Amino acid sequence: MGWNLRVAEAKDVYLTESDLWRFTQQFLMNASHTTTYKHVLMKALLECTTELNESGVVSFHQIAKHVTKIYWNLIVKHGLTQMNQLGKQSAVEKAMVSFQKEHNIPPDWNFDRLPEHQQNQLIRNVNQFYKKYVYGSFYRSFNETIYSFNRKEEWIQLVPAYVVFFEKYKHILMNVTNYQLAIFLEKYNSQDAMERILSKLEFVSARQSLEEFKQILLSHGHSMCFYCLKPVKQIHVDHFIPWSYMQNDVLWNFVLSCPTCNTSRDNRLANIDYLYNLVERNHELRTAEHMSTYKESKLIHLYHYAVQNGYENNWTPKA
Ligand SMILES: [Zn+2]
Repeated sequence: MGWNLRVAEAKDVYLTESDLWRFTQQFLMNASHTTTYKHVLMKALLECTTELNESGVVSFHQIAKHVTKIYWNLIVKHGLTQMNQLGKQSAVEKAMVSFQKEHNIPPDWNFDRLPEHQQNQLIRNVNQFYKKYVYGSFYRSFNETIYSFNRKEEWIQLVPAYVVFFEKYKHILMNVTNYQLAIFLEKYNSQDAMERILSKLEFVSARQSLEEFKQILLSHGHSMCFYCLKPVKQIHVDHFIPWSYMQNDVLWNFVLSCPTCNTSRDNRLANIDYLYNLVERNHELRTAEHMSTYKESKLIHLYHYAVQNGYENNWTPKA
């Protein structure tokens, strides 16, 4: 029930943090999931938290972009079957496989290497399917508390308590979602396909190339290391807030850095002075392409949430 609702409001109830944990765990542990659709939606929503507007609204299209990318990389790139209980290919899997064959796309291509019109074609396809079957059912899985949605206007509005919850526990929620997905996939895939499955799932949304972001930053005159300020010959594109927390590639979180700083920082955050340098840098970039989801307060919040998610924030470049 619930999958065919057109418009639904999230229940107007006060949610404590233990309520949120309980609903989320019930959802994740639910053994009756017969496809990966809802787990992949969970992953996409966690990735989308950086794209919500101030009222917590995000369009079906934005979400479908993440879902499509995840599925393409899982199914085509890693050859992982998402069979359902009847032993048949799931609808999304069928769509991906036939698209790849029809357009002769090399199977080792990440989704972000596909030309934009092909990406959009697939996204539209996935969106139709998710719109019809998945949003309503996911909503019911969370006791109707997680979001309001409108299938005609194609958006969801996450409840504020969930927005905070997702940010606050994103790293652990992402890990446990990946774990549940792995358990599911294990049933239907060969040992070969399952090799290094948790790494595959953890990095399934990572882009094959960050060249596009590097070119934009260079074209805005940022050619020295963001951290040590030395001119760099071999430029690295660096996620200021670690990718493992962000799980989303946005221009406003990228800086150019020298290999030494990039490597030595590893999975830590630079100390807070660098956060304010980045706020300033983004202010200069505000009119550039790909800045539409940026807000200064959002970046500052994310930094603090990353700390709350266990990331150390005391790194500074070696003198
Ligand atoms: Zn440096």
